[in-house]
Amino acid sequence: MRIIGKLKAIIIIIIGISMVVSTVGCQGKGGNISVGDLDDEDIKVWVYTTFYPIYDFAKKIGGDKLIVENIVPPGVEPHDFEPSPKQIAIFSDADVFIYLGEPMDPWAEKISGDLEARGLKVLKAGEGLMENDDPHIWLDPIIAKELSKRIFQTIVGADEDNREFYEGNLASLNEEFDELDREFKDGLADITRKDVVMAHAAVGYLAKRYGLNQIPITGLSPQEEPSPRKMAELVELVRERDIKYIFFEELASPKFSETIASEVGADLLVFNPVGGLTLEQIRSGEDYFSMMRRNLENLKTALE
Ligand SMILES: [Zn+2]
Repeated sequence: MRIIGKLKAIIIIIIGISMVVSTVGCQGKGGNISVGDLDDEDIKVWVYTTFYPIYDFAKKIGGDKLIVENIVPPGVEPHDFEPSPKQIAIFSDADVFIYLGEPMDPWAEKISGDLEARGLKVLKAGEGLMENDDPHIWLDPIIAKELSKRIFQTIVGADEDNREFYEGNLASLNEEFDELDREFKDGLADITRKDVVMAHAAVGYLAKRYGLNQIPITGLSPQEEPSPRKMAELVELVRERDIKYIFFEELASPKFSETIASEVGADLLVFNPVGGLTLEQIRSGEDYFSMMRRNLENLKTALE
């Protein structure tokens, strides 16, 4: 009898522990991410995006019908970002996962198969749109339109019930891209200069679209630092062409832009590649379009 009593006690303890474990394990989609007072009934689609422009486009299409979470945190330069295994575990429970594709988010490429196997709808939004290993397609409003169309299709694939709602939002977004494209065309129609010295090679597609000549200080990623020889060549080129402004970025070190500017007596201007916004920018309501318009103003200043 005493042995049976002990066994009973052990079984009760085991049941108790497993109940605690299952309660802890059942926090719903998104794990410990705070989403206010939403209850699961209201949440149709839970979308994770790798970095800002994709996040912004998905949010504009999804409106309040879906939850969009961005994986690269605010203020973090997206090129060298990789999520932790803990973060990956969290968004592995989402409904949709959208990334751009190598070389922007190579970590996403690696886990995309696993996510699909878990039942997520996965979109490699930049598939077939990138040339020469240059990921910065979102900076061309016309290619951004194509990205948004693909994001829309994936969202509808996960939530057909709200197709019309998403269609309406996509139509508004398309108008905004067209308007931005017109502003760039008009704004850069009468420029006398073409050369833009950029902190990193972010404007390849933008330059091609609007007839600019990109001179990057670092490479396709801000982490590719220039050699002293390359810096000397850049200084010479800037002098030769009498370039008055050097661009720098907010999420990468401005040191190379500053060095060239002080060497030749040029002024510094910010260009935001919209790969990521700071918390302050997000709080003050900035988005892809407001950043692009500020970029256009600064390009006009540099090229007049
Ligand atoms: Zn970049």
